[in-house]
Amino acid sequence: WRADQTEQTLVPTHCCFCGVQCGMYLRVDRHGKVFGVEPRNHDINRMRLCPKGINAYQQVNHPDRLTAPLLRTSRDEPFREVGWEEALDHTAERIRRIQAEHGRDAFGMLGGASLFSEKTYLVGKFARVALRTRHVDYNGRLCMVSAAGANKLAFGIDRAANPFADILRTDCLLIAGSNVGECFPVMTQYVWGARDRGAKLIVVDPRETAIARTADVHVALRSGTDAVFFNAVLHVVVKEGLTDEAFLAERTTGWAEVRRAVEAYPPQRAAETCGILAGQVVEVARMFATAPRAMAWHARGIEHHTQGVENCLTVINLCTATGNLGRPGAGYGTITGQGNGQGGREHGQKADLLPGGRSINDPAHRRQIAAIWGIDEDDLPPAGTSMVEMVGQMGRREIRGLIGVCNNPFVSLPNLRSVRAGYDALEFHAQLDFFLSETAADAHVVLPVTTWAEDEGVMANAEARVVKHNKAQEPPEGVRTDTWVLCELARRLGVGEKFAFEGSREVFDELRRASAGTVIDYYGITYERLEETGGIAWPCPGPDHPGTPRLFEDGRTYHPDGKVHLQVVEWHPPADPYDEQYPMTLTTGRTVAHFLSGNQTRRLGGLVEQTPRPWVEVHPSHGFRTGDPVRVTTRRGSTVLPALVTEAIRADHVFVPYHWPVPVAANELTVDALDPRSKIPEYKVCAVRIDPAEAL
Ligand code: SF4
Repeated sequence: WRADQTEQTLVPTHCCFCGVQCGMYLRVDRHGKVFGVEPRNHDINRMRLCPKGINAYQQVNHPDRLTAPLLRTSRDEPFREVGWEEALDHTAERIRRIQAEHGRDAFGMLGGASLFSEKTYLVGKFARVALRTRHVDYNGRLCMVSAAGANKLAFGIDRAANPFADILRTDCLLIAGSNVGECFPVMTQYVWGARDRGAKLIVVDPRETAIARTADVHVALRSGTDAVFFNAVLHVVVKEGLTDEAFLAERTTGWAEVRRAVEAYPPQRAAETCGILAGQVVEVARMFATAPRAMAWHARGIEHHTQGVENCLTVINLCTATGNLGRPGAGYGTITGQGNGQGGREHGQKADLLPGGRSINDPAHRRQIAAIWGIDEDDLPPAGTSMVEMVGQMGRREIRGLIGVCNNPFVSLPNLRSVRAGYDALEFHAQLDFFLSETAADAHVVLPVTTWAEDEGVMANAEARVVKHNKAQEPPEGVRTDTWVLCELARRLGVGEKFAFEGSREVFDELRRASAGTVIDYYGITYERLEETGGIAWPCPGPDHPGTPRLFEDGRTYHPDGKVHLQVVEWHPPADPYDEQYPMTLTTGRTVAHFLSGNQTRRLGGLVEQTPRPWVEVHPSHGFRTGDPVRVTTRRGSTVLPALVTEAIRADHVFVPYHWPVPVAANELTVDALDPRSKIPEYKVCAVRIDPAEAL
């Protein structure tokens, strides 16, 4: 340590990265600068942090931080550093001109789910009140909107039904499509903790991940066949009389239709379609349905599909048919990817939603929010389109200007060639970020904003537990909070009085009021309570309400009839067809050292040392040796990557992690087909071929 670091202050906060939201202390020296991290005995993580969490602090005072607004009038010019007045005046003038010439909907906004909830609330309000555009969406659209859609359909509420702690109380844990050990490393303590207490572990994943290796049953199914598998499991549960008929009769609707539909999915059909043994279907059915308490958790592996909503519904059908809901150790959850993946979709930055998860097309909901925002309800725009659809509209010049906040579509969106075409067609693009991401590097204006350690605010983790992040240092000179930037822009657009916020605390108070009376009720949650308790799960309607860590304990869902609405699911094949030219499956995902588009983690020394570049995971049967150059080609693009030869992947699949830009971008290869219900892209399956390459 340097001498000035011996007088440190420990600021309690949470990790900025994934949806587990581990507690940590940031170490602050006597000059007020963040210089390290300490474990924190928060009950989410009990002192544990993963490699990303340990390295997160390094980005706060990283030499790559943007510290002055950047501006250029054409992409042919280099950026020049300008003052805030010039950058904001220019941005407001471009917004006004584009909207005057082409209409309000010609300007769009894209937010992010790593932002604090206060900022996600402001993104939605800014789009609807300052821009008055219908075109606002966010990068959670790429994350778990299919799970959200399924939760709403089945339960009338969009969140995990149980807290992480319930995993330790279950007798059978089913993990579907989640590489927990790498994507949510600290959550592994719950998975292996359950095993250590004697619970059975079932993992459904095309890859033999760390948790799959320790499972009682690992179902290495073909990517894109989840609905067949789970329908077949339910088929066996029905045939063997293992359903909870009393539970189904009292607490559900739609069971007769679901029961009839799964008759068409015998284990042999699953064996043929999923490429597994029929006996595994029977084994999973018996293991899950006979456990006194069983739970299922899933993530992007079953959600990133053109039938993402339906895949999640098949898991809900299984939990419900076996009576596993609303009890300690019995239930269901989806593991959110981004730190605020849950909170990011609750407060109005999603194309179809207003704060509190209200529908933007519902007249009563519009009236309620218009009253809080002090505007005429007729001035609220209607629902817009999803993130990938917006990029298509940019390419067709239906959207001509864009503000991006905390996202990096040049790495994270599928079919990157079409993404670049969309952004290239924009007449004006402003991006808020603290590093010059690949997307920011393409903008006309870049506005340097704070990291999570330089502001306060809340996030909701994968349990829907709202936690408080605290400010550990002042931002570097020249940097402003996203809140300040949006309020200043709103002032220049003539609606400053609607954005008279000093900081996050005032925004949170308005957010609480805007959520009151909805299912996503934050009204009883205050900063003070969060600091005292370490986190409160919504709904929390009043100051004396303890929050709701576990749903459905009173036997009722959040539908008006209080029942689970079971849904029939019929499988359909993935969107990108196989043929002789593209005979294999490409599936993509994350690796432990990096986070999402890598804009943060690709700059952090320890993480880059651990994982400097991507690779293609291939089965030994293809004749490659580890390190050999392999050309990976789909109908959209081609890239050369070093082979990682392993028996942990199916022989008919290859896997590529997606955290890097071109020329090694996995998303140069992926397909931009969308789930028609949730508009989530089908990242997890497309047709591919692999060939030996000359060199890397
Ligand atoms: Fe951060 Fe997630 Fe790692 Fe916890 S598990 S330290 S929240 S990245």
